[in-house]
Amino acid sequence: MISARKSALTIPPPVLLANIGQLLTLRSASGNRGPRRASDLKELGIIKDGAVLCLGGKIVSVGTTKDALRDPWLKKHRKKVTEIDCADKVVLPGFVDSHTHPVFVRPRLVDFEKRVEGASYEEIAAAGGGIRSSLDAVRRSAKSVLTMKVMTALAEMAAHGTTTVEAKSGYGLTVESELKSLEAIKDAASRWPGTVVPTLLGAHVVPKEFQVCSQKYVEIVCKEMIPRAAKRKLAQFVDVFCDRGAFTPEETEQIFAAAEKHRLSVRAHMGQLLETVLSPFLRFNPASFDHLDHVNEDDVRQLAKRDTMATLVPGANYFLGLKEYPDARRLIDAGVPVALATDYNPGTSPTISIPMAMSLACTHMRMSPAEAVAAATINGAWALRVADRKGSIEPGKDTDFAMFDANDYREIAYWFGANHCAMTVLNGVVVPHK
Ligand SMILES: [Zn+2]
Repeated sequence: MISARKSALTIPPPVLLANIGQLLTLRSASGNRGPRRASDLKELGIIKDGAVLCLGGKIVSVGTTKDALRDPWLKKHRKKVTEIDCADKVVLPGFVDSHTHPVFVRPRLVDFEKRVEGASYEEIAAAGGGIRSSLDAVRRSAKSVLTMKVMTALAEMAAHGTTTVEAKSGYGLTVESELKSLEAIKDAASRWPGTVVPTLLGAHVVPKEFQVCSQKYVEIVCKEMIPRAAKRKLAQFVDVFCDRGAFTPEETEQIFAAAEKHRLSVRAHMGQLLETVLSPFLRFNPASFDHLDHVNEDDVRQLAKRDTMATLVPGANYFLGLKEYPDARRLIDAGVPVALATDYNPGTSPTISIPMAMSLACTHMRMSPAEAVAAATINGAWALRVADRKGSIEPGKDTDFAMFDANDYREIAYWFGANHCAMTVLNGVVVPHK
């Protein structure tokens, strides 16, 4: 479906989105330039009958259609401008999915069935399922096979309104297969008009062959994977799954220190199964802690003072059939900046849909529809440190939009399980979906 190829020489043609029923700019009402927190999280900067003019892949003006049509430049050059009529539509910044694991080969249907029968996450892992069961296929697959899998996921994400995606490796867990996974992400990204932020997740779980000596594996991550991924610029972030059955806080600190040494930023899966004290990691200035089903009061106070994002992924709780969800209200009300992501992965959250994550955020975490929008756009951009370019519709930012067949933005989270995204614009490339 998406065939446009990126080229430094291709300058997107001028585009005018006009007659927009509801334009969600996500411009900060308070003028605060940082991540959105507390009551700022629900400020969407809505313009009725809106218009956005884009030139050279950047947004140049945002306002009402009436004002746009009075613009002298537009009056003079109107014939050269691609005009898109967005009457009776909602237009918002393209979603920023800041947590996905797209480099895998097959769905984990046996795990799915066992879980339905009552087996726990850890029982499935102990029986040979879980993350480790995805390793063989990734290790054996040619890079081109992995590239195709990632490209399929990216195209589906775009069809649901996502224009920026963080993509993790993590189903190879050998030096070669992790680098191969990152190369597949790079190849897929080069053929997709949207934006991909690559993350090395060599520390996803300890592979079976290192079970008796996890420290040896940690050393491979620190001394081989991280330096090689950094040298070849294959990753912007290093992620660690720090939890029961994965990596300890001490191992996580070691891996973060190696990332820092090689000038890669860090993020981590934290507090999904067990509470981990977060404060020792703050000296590494992590971009995000993800999951946070369990988090203590002192850490909540610390996070409220910082730009480290709390990225919530309710798709995992839903798919694992859990009764409990992360306490979004507690985090938001305390002033912690919160992002929403899909956690797209074959074991615990096989969804590419940000609207589904938004719906779950509203129904199971008591986030308002407006908070869900901001958490999946501007705060997602903060979680990936691309908020200077992404996540809101303001002059100077990239031309990334999602258009929904709706009169009201609340419909995005309301009509769960059906896709109402009618069009996405990815770095100026217009991709209609209907
Ligand atoms: Zn994850």
